[in-house]
Formats: sequence, structure tokens, C-alpha cells
Amino acid sequence: MQDIAAKLKIIDERIKEAAEACGRKRDDVLLCAVSKTRTPEEINIAIDAGVTDIGENKVQEIMDKFDAVKPVRWHMIGHLQTNKVKYIIDKVAMIHSVDSFKLAAEIDKRAGSKGIVMDILLQVNSAQEESKFGISLDETESLIKEILEKCENVRIRGLMCVAPKADDPQDIKIYFSQVKEQYDRFGRIEHERLDFKYLSMGMSHDFPVAIEAGSNLVRVGSAIFGERDYSKQK
Ligand SMILES: *Cc1c(COP(=O)(O)O)cnc(C)c1O
Repeated sequence: MQDIAAKLKIIDERIKEAAEACGRKRDDVLLCAVSKTRTPEEINIAIDAGVTDIGENKVQEIMDKFDAVKPVRWHMIGHLQTNKVKYIIDKVAMIHSVDSFKLAAEIDKRAGSKGIVMDILLQVNSAQEESKFGISLDETESLIKEILEKCENVRIRGLMCVAPKADDPQDIKIYFSQVKEQYDRFGRIEHERLDFKYLSMGMSHDFPVAIEAGSNLVRVGSAIFGERDYSKQK
């Protein structure tokens, strides 16, 4: 367990290297430590070691751990069913996985009833993998427009992407680059509820390549906490 802090240090250094290699700084890239299947104790060790942002992919895990984890920014990074939005609306700082108007509308409604504005990212499936959630590159513009027109209680902060698995992450850099292009393009829209700040791309096996392609928010789990044992996930 103590080696969570040691692993974090290594990840931190690798983020710094990748950022500096493309003329950016360590602080230009936010690290979201992904704690699925991990206990509150393990998460608190990471927080004590400097982690400010925690990502979970299941609503149930956020609810189970929320009270036992020290104050931190929570990110919902996994597929979210509309009927579960209500459970996390007052717990998370940002929802990365918005991939339909229906989901955005539910977040809007629930945020409105709490008197808050929820930050969201649109999940783009640039490789068009059948097995992955997310909108296609082509759908991004129309979804942004519809959300800006109809959802008053959400703010679109950027885009998120989960790339296909690859033995050599350089092979999938194109999928990150395509999302980065859209991020730059739509980020120029002037609107009070569109304020692009986050391009969420990169996981344990591919975050340096994602940073090279322009990511400024990496979601790293197993490289910090160790390999996951899914028998522990409810
Ligand atoms: C699990 C998960 C991650 C982190 O994956 P690792 O390979 O453990 O770094 C990142 N993003 C999403 C959406 C995830 O579900």
C-alpha cells in the first residue's frame, strides 16, 4: 500500500516528461487518479500523496466510498445511465462520459433542482469501436448545439476519449489527434455555457502519447494503484 505514493511519484515524473517534450509544463496536465475497485483507505493514501482528483466509472462505487474519502474532486468517467444521475449530481465535480442528448438533459434537470451548474465533457469514440461508448466525431457539433440550446444547468468543459487498446500506443495516436482537432475547433465557440478547458485522454498504458497529442487531463488507474481485481467490484 505504501507504494501508491511511490508509484504516484513515477507517474508524476512521466507526465512532466511527456508535457515538457512538447513544450508544455507538468502543471498543464491534470492527473485524475482512477480508483475503481480500490478502497477508501487506498484512495486516502493517494490523496495524502497529493492527488486532487479521483475518477470512478460506476455510480455505486462513488456512493459507497464518498463519505469515507477525504475531500477531493470526484469525476464520473464511466458510462452513466440516466436513471442514476440523481445519485451523483451533488457529489461529482465533472461528468466525462456524456454521449447523448438524453443524458445531458437528465443532468441538466438534476443540476437545476440542486441549484448548480454541472461541468460535463462529451465522450467521443473517434476510433468508432463498437464496444465503446461515445459519439462519433461527426456527431459532436450537433450534440454541442443541442445542449447549448436546451440545457441551462450544464457547462460543456471539453471532450473525453478512450482509445482502443494497442501494443504500441503510437499506433493509436491518430485517434487522440482527431479529438484534439475537434477540441480546438469547438473550443473557439463563444458561449457562456461552453468553456473548454479539459481534453480528457490517456490511461495507464497510453497517457504519454495522449499528452503528446494534446491531452491536458489524464485518467490513470492501474499504474498508480496496481492491477485491478474485478472480483472486488460490485
Ligand atoms: C478504468 C478507466 C481508466 C483507467 O484505466 P487504467 O488502465 O487503470 O489506467 C481511465 N478511463 C476510464 C473511462 C476507465 O474506465
